[in-house]
Amino acid sequence: MAEFSMDLNDDQKTLQDWIHGFAENVMRPAASEWDEREETPWPIIEEAAKLGIYGMDFLADAFSDPTGLKMMIFLEEMAWGDAGLCMAIVGSSLAVAGIMSNATPEQAMEWIPQCYGTPEDIKLGAFCVSEPDAGSDVSGLRTRAVYDEAKDEWVLNGTKTWITNGGIANTHVVVASVDPALGSRGHASFVIGEGTPGIRMGQKFKKMGIRASHTAEVVLEDCRIPGRQLLGGKEKLDERLARVREGKKASTQAAMATFEATRPAVGAQALGIARAAYEYSLDYAKERKQFGRAIIENQAIAFKLADMKMHIDAARLLVWRASWMAATRKPFLNGEGSMSKAYASETAVKVTEEAIQILGGYGYVREYPVERWHRDSKIYTIFEGTSEIQRLVVARAISGIHIK
Ligand SMILES: Cc1cc2nc3c(=O)[nH]c(=O)nc-3n(C[C@H](O)[C@H](O)[C@H](O)COP(=O)(O)OP(=O)(O)OC[C@H]3O[C@@H](n4cnc5c(N)ncnc54)[C@H](O)[C@@H]3O)c2cc1C
Repeated sequence: MAEFSMDLNDDQKTLQDWIHGFAENVMRPAASEWDEREETPWPIIEEAAKLGIYGMDFLADAFSDPTGLKMMIFLEEMAWGDAGLCMAIVGSSLAVAGIMSNATPEQAMEWIPQCYGTPEDIKLGAFCVSEPDAGSDVSGLRTRAVYDEAKDEWVLNGTKTWITNGGIANTHVVVASVDPALGSRGHASFVIGEGTPGIRMGQKFKKMGIRASHTAEVVLEDCRIPGRQLLGGKEKLDERLARVREGKKASTQAAMATFEATRPAVGAQALGIARAAYEYSLDYAKERKQFGRAIIENQAIAFKLADMKMHIDAARLLVWRASWMAATRKPFLNGEGSMSKAYASETAVKVTEEAIQILGGYGYVREYPVERWHRDSKIYTIFEGTSEIQRLVVARAISGIHIK
């Protein structure tokens, strides 16, 4: 019988120390600057690439951990360093996840390297699902992909919004409708390579947090791509659509498959921010004196810290469990992936807010990192499925009822 242990193995500990060093020495000192500049932090991405943490080899190694923990450890440490810089570095992986969940092996070999490039020639990827009128409800996607049989080309039209690396990426993975009458079961994923006419960046958004990560609209205007850039291939798509039209159950929907696999990873990043804020405010509470004693000597402050620690540890257990379940192919019968994402992201919002409270006025000003951590934390309850949508997933899973 397999022995149960909560200890990290040597491989996991080595990774944790290595990434912590990068987070502490490279990310932390640069975090405030890139938050203010609100631009893509190319030098930091280059450093990450030189170190070997930006690219497919690293991702493959992390995902090969049979316990599922290595990727979670990596993301927690990176977000502990800085969530905006972390997203600038790992954002391309969303496109990679979009490719992996739908591509043929040949397509994966061709396109994944183009999402990262090399340390000397960095490339970015973007995963484009959300639209102005289709966020939580992707069944309403308006972006259309129409097949031009004579030329064996797909023609894409539509506007995507809130896209990480949108318009500046070299490779865009776009989810579009090939048959609007079928709702989300009529979706397919396409890959659009560098220099393709008909794809451009629309508005770039100014954000509350994770400001080192680029977020923009992606506009598709008669964007023509070769037929072979339909992920999974035409034959498989036609078979799937035929099954749906006959009323048979469709295989997993394109966009949903990607989001489900990435949820614990989003939770792990939220956890990193929460831990950063907890550690900082714990140290501060021991140093700061009012009424002749350290503020931590007041239960009002000490209990906040105790609660923060409890929630962080509980969140980590949920994140690690979900990632272990994914790695060991256990079915998420109770929406465990969604649980981990919702709980960790809400923990991050709460813990960073309490950290501001513990620092008082110092928590509210930009000379200290705590207000930035709070701004950064909020996005985790919104993207890759809002907290409400995660609760829907859990509620439906535990009840077997199609809760609305
Ligand atoms: C910084 C950033 C980066 C992003 N990156 C990407 C990206 O790379 N690619 C991409 O495709 N998208 C990306 N997104 C989009 C993100 O995934 C969406 O914002 C998110 O899915 C929510 O959609 P929405 O904003 O349209 O909100 P809506 O769906 O309009 O939701 C508004 C509110 O209504 C609630 N709500 C909606 N439906 C229900 C329901 N059935 N029951 C209860 N409550 C409900 C929601 O929970 C929310 O509170 C990004 C967004 C941001 C802000």
